[in-house]
Amino acid sequence: MNRLINKIRDIPDFPKPGILFKDITPLVKDPATLKLAVHQLMEPFLGSRITAIAGMEARGFIFGSLVAWEMGLPFIPLRKPGKLPYDVQSVSYDLEYGSAALEAHIDAFEADDKVLLIDDLLATGGTARASCELIEKLGAEIVACAFVVELDFLNGREKLENYRVHSLLHF
Ligand code: IMP
Repeated sequence: MNRLINKIRDIPDFPKPGILFKDITPLVKDPATLKLAVHQLMEPFLGSRITAIAGMEARGFIFGSLVAWEMGLPFIPLRKPGKLPYDVQSVSYDLEYGSAALEAHIDAFEADDKVLLIDDLLATGGTARASCELIEKLGAEIVACAFVVELDFLNGREKLENYRVHSLLHF
């Protein structure tokens, strides 16, 4: 646990004044700590019938694809609008100012897929909630959502009340 915490760097006033950004780049720079994080993300689900890992752009790609590699499962990228080349399904969600959207290919999931969703950090939960909606719209089932970091004071877990949530570190 301490090994992970020691590799998360606080950056004040990023991306705007008043925000304390949790920077995971020191963690992904250290191979032993990255391996530990990947193993801890997947550990509770080793006996589950998960058939695919999904991760959201961009830091969810780092952890999600490593978990998929380790578990020998497909990795499905959930992308920002306009990046995917084939037909897409899209879900929009509200940000503090404005809105954002995530997209996935319409054939990204199989009808009976059981998905573990992975991102680096759970803050307000908007991104993860929209990701769950997108995956369900595409006909797959969410088994759980896993994060390296959860910012407890932002109550993102409430937006994910219908889902199992696994976080390695809480701030
Ligand atoms: P939410 O939608 O408010 O839960 O924000 C979570 C999304 O924003 C995730 O995709 C994170 O990668 C990103 N994010 C928000 N705050 C931070 C942070 O402090 N460090 C790293 N990523 C963050």
